[in-house]
Amino acid sequence: MKIKTRFAPSPTGYLHLGGARTALYSWLLARHNNGEFILRIEDTDLKRSTKEAVQVIIDGMRWLNLDWDKGPYYQTERFDRYNDIINHMLKQGTAYKCYCSKERLDSLRQISMAKGIKPKYDGYCRDNHLHHSPHEPHVVRFLNPREGSVIFIDKIRGYIEFSNQELDDLIIRRTDSSPTYNFCVVIDDWDMEITHVIRGEDHLNNTPRQINILKALGAPIPEYAHVSMILNNHGQKLSKRHGTSGVIEYRNKGYLPEAILNYIVRMGWSYGDQEIFSIDEMKNFFTLDNISKSASILNTKKLQWLNQYYIKHMSPKYISIHLAWHICNAGYNTNNGPNLLDIIQILAGRCNTLKEMAEQAHYFYEDFTEFETEAVKKYLSPIAYKPLEIISEKLASIVDWTVKNISNEIKSAANYLNVKISEVSMPLRVAVTGTSKSSGIDITIYYIGQQRSLKRINAALALITKHI
Ligand code: GLU
Repeated sequence: MKIKTRFAPSPTGYLHLGGARTALYSWLLARHNNGEFILRIEDTDLKRSTKEAVQVIIDGMRWLNLDWDKGPYYQTERFDRYNDIINHMLKQGTAYKCYCSKERLDSLRQISMAKGIKPKYDGYCRDNHLHHSPHEPHVVRFLNPREGSVIFIDKIRGYIEFSNQELDDLIIRRTDSSPTYNFCVVIDDWDMEITHVIRGEDHLNNTPRQINILKALGAPIPEYAHVSMILNNHGQKLSKRHGTSGVIEYRNKGYLPEAILNYIVRMGWSYGDQEIFSIDEMKNFFTLDNISKSASILNTKKLQWLNQYYIKHMSPKYISIHLAWHICNAGYNTNNGPNLLDIIQILAGRCNTLKEMAEQAHYFYEDFTEFETEAVKKYLSPIAYKPLEIISEKLASIVDWTVKNISNEIKSAANYLNVKISEVSMPLRVAVTGTSKSSGIDITIYYIGQQRSLKRINAALALITKHI
């Protein structure tokens, strides 16, 4: 049997890490088994679904490289199919029309609540077949079994049993003829021949209802795996309200897709003690057997650590594609300085994110007029004047502009002045980068270039003179 999985987001918000993890697990199960992965947009909630949200989900999936074999399917394009089945169920007697008024249903609810029991439809229209005109407003309800229970073995949570007495006769078609969410999911999973449904544990209560409908239709029941929640570090469920970032925001913050995938795959799934997984390893090792039942907590430090790992270990050529996006966003003209592979060589070990790298790279491409205030206070005081003047002369005298020669001149300036190397290199660093932090000063100056470095040293000397 071919394994078929799906990711079925409702486009009512952005794709956060929890959704991305559900997508990843479904994608991995399909890829591990040479199966099929389907993208389905569950947009039946017309008021809350938006085209922008669909786009954000698709952009997020594409950026993470979670490719789908079929879809995206849109539930709003399948209403005829859902209605055909509802009509068939009405004929077959597995669904019935309910004419109960809102007032009757409200009063039923109030009576139950007053008694302290869970509100539930009492089955009035199921049991009383009164005559109604065809145009009288009604909903269609599923005839849920009254006896027995629904049992299934969840691939993560194990044995699950719901008594049928707890389940309502679910509305499957509203008065305005639109089919309801739980019903559409069932028909889609059936039509798309989904073998494994992987979704958040917040859908666990829907599963027995969906299984009952599948049974009534004589459709196969897929396997279910309900993944635990991801909580933010305040212990709250991920949601936009609590300031959780969407996947695309992680791109904007300078994360690599590989780091995000590695991070989310480990939020709930394990393979021995291994922490770093290439995409191929994930595909090879992933099964539903090692997924934890406990909630996971977002850990930004770990994500940064992984990002830094991938920045350092992936091929500079690949990193440069992502870095180019950030550099372009920052608006630098890369014709003004070193190529991105050099930037990566200089800065990879120093940055947790590519955004940071792009920011740090600015002094290779752009001249600046502002120096960091703290750096000026500490390293561009009058005492720095002489070292800067001497190193400027020495750098100007270099004929063969190499890292080695630059390094030698810095040492020779310190020797000449009889001071520690840092007393030359720190003012020099602030002068040419505007900050007190950079990679090795010799390689940094090498890539900034001779003329530009000299010009910047002059500007720093002028600044010192102004404050004397
Ligand atoms: N559309 C649902 C959601 O976005 C998922 C439903 C399912 O996977 O069955 O939460």
